[in-house]
Amino acid sequence: MSTAGSDSNSVPTAGSTDPSDPSDSAHETEPHAQGLAGRLNWLRAGVLGANDGIVSTAGLVVGVAGATTSRGPILTAGIAGLVAGAVSMALGEYVSVSSQRDTERALLAVERTELQQFPEEEIAELAALYEAKGLQPATARQVAQELTANDAFAAHADAELGIDPQALTNPWQAARASLLAFTLGSLLPLAAILLPPAGWRVTVTFAVVLLALALTGAVSAVLGGSEKRPAVARLVLGGALAMAVTFGIGRLVGAAGG
Ligand SMILES: [Zn+2]
Repeated sequence: MSTAGSDSNSVPTAGSTDPSDPSDSAHETEPHAQGLAGRLNWLRAGVLGANDGIVSTAGLVVGVAGATTSRGPILTAGIAGLVAGAVSMALGEYVSVSSQRDTERALLAVERTELQQFPEEEIAELAALYEAKGLQPATARQVAQELTANDAFAAHADAELGIDPQALTNPWQAARASLLAFTLGSLLPLAAILLPPAGWRVTVTFAVVLLALALTGAVSAVLGGSEKRPAVARLVLGGALAMAVTFGIGRLVGAAGG
């Protein structure tokens, strides 16, 4: 597709993507940066983040509702839990994606240096990789040579490291997605506990939360191509257990007058 000339230009450009984030946000908009698989992964991560928000906020508000029938403390605990959880999830995601990207950048930098210093050895290395995948030695050699002529850096990043240098994950994007997913998930138990009359709060929250978890469990099973029933069962049982335990603790602590 692209000429050898433009590709030899693209090597130093990719190399100059230092810790500056603007370059990454530029890549985000490129249509090839995320395939369908990438988008499905994001969607699955979003559903998982929403589950976290649903379960942790539900456990929190149900626990407080076990201790008191007064609306104020339930609201305060719910909102504090939502904010703390969302920030903690976003921070965790930011740290994890950042360190993953640092690792990928370091590996790519080593690869770039090796390509400059040992071009012949690198072609042999690439050929060996394709031979190991089942190509005949002569074919592997030809593939390695053609890929090297086209874009040596991209070829090595893909074959050796499994990294697309144009599509490094953006930690800010990951953090924003986590924050949003957790917040959306949290709003559900928060609404379920605050909207009904006092006598119905806990029952309605249990029902709404378990229904929501059944739904997100089914959705993530579909996205992951796995069976729905075990995914739904794990989530619903886990959510029910979390709420039962925190409600019990709330009851005990409330009764003790703590
Ligand atoms: Zn290499």
